[in-house]
This record gives sequence, C-alpha cells and structure tokens, in this order.
Amino acid sequence: MEEDYVFKIVVIGDSAVGKTQLLGRFTRDEFFLDSKSTIGIEFQTRTVDIARRRVKAQIWDTAGQERYRAVTSAYYRGALGAMLVYDVTRRHTFEHAARWVDELRAHADKSIVVMLIGNKADLAAGRAVAADEAAAFAEEQGLFFSEASALSGENVERAFLRLLEEIHANV
Ligand code: GDP
Ligand code: MG
Repeated sequence: MEEDYVFKIVVIGDSAVGKTQLLGRFTRDEFFLDSKSTIGIEFQTRTVDIARRRVKAQIWDTAGQERYRAVTSAYYRGALGAMLVYDVTRRHTFEHAARWVDELRAHADKSIVVMLIGNKADLAAGRAVAADEAAAFAEEQGLFFSEASALSGENVERAFLRLLEEIHANV
C-alpha cells in the first residue's frame, strides 16, 4: 500500500554521538546511498502507522560531514523534523547542541519539529550531563527531549515515533 505521507527527518549533532547507530536501530527496511553525490548525503526509510495513516519516515544522515561543520542547507531543505543528538558521556557534545539549534534556525523551515536526544544512556558510569539539565535546555528552546541508547535500543523507537506523531499533528 502506498504511504499517505513522506516525512523528511534530519539527524544532526557532533561526530560520534551515535547518529548513525540510532538511525540504524529505527530503520531497516530500505537503504539509499547516493554514491554519485560529492557531498555523500544518504538516507534510510521506514514506514509506520501514525493515527491510522501510513507515514514513510525518510531519515537523513550526515555521513561524516558534521566533522567539518559542512552540513549544507540542501541537507535541511524540506525537513519536517530533526533529531538533535548529543552523547551523555561527553559534555561538550551537549554544549554544542545550542550551535546545532542555531544551524536549524538558520537553514531549516521555521516549523521544523526538533527532538533532543541524549544518547548512550546505557553508559551510566560515564554520565557527564544530567537528564534534568538537558530537559531544561530543551524546554527553553522549544524542543522535545528524550534520553536513549542506540546500543540497548532503549527509547529509540519511542523517540522516533513521538517525533513522527508531532510532525503529523502539524500537517
Ligand atoms: P555518529 O558519528 O554520530 O554517526 O556516531 P556513530 O553512530 O558512528 O557512533 C559512534 C560510536 O559510538 C560508535 O563506536 C558506536 O558504537 C558508539 N555508540 C553509538 N550509540 C551508542 C550507545 O547508545 N551506547 C554506546 N555505549 N555506544 C554507542
Ligand atoms: Mg555517522
């Protein structure tokens, strides 16, 4: 059956926070790699039911561009949602979240729905960012927030579905 909607979602955040692993956890049904593209944009998709509609999530990965702060406006074009990921064990990746929000405000649509994800929540002993602090930042910036673990899978499905539901509520 054809989908009712295609929602483009971008995954952003510093290098090695777990963006690619989170995406891989959530989507396994198709894989697309534009090998001809010089900027190496790629996305994966998964189709889910949201409020009795077939919604295809088309989720874009930065493919390493974040290292060079070279995520281009083409990456954000048409995106209805964003997963902004930091690593709960590396504090600077959380501190950089404000810069990523600035990037979104500069390049993405004003109505983009953003979910802040504190990934690697399985590494409790190495925690460097309290959930309360991140939740407060998210509230102040108008972002949804969840901790998650791409390794254990905890909260990954829930966070992506929540983002899709919030986008659906806006369309
Ligand atoms: P990206 O650069 O943001 O795409 O990060 P990757 O998805 O490539 O992950 C970077 C590193 O963190 C890899 O070694 C992953 O195995 C590891 N990693 C990713 N997610 C988790 C997680 O939830 N828990 C733990 N313990 N390690 C993770
Ligand atoms: Mg990656």
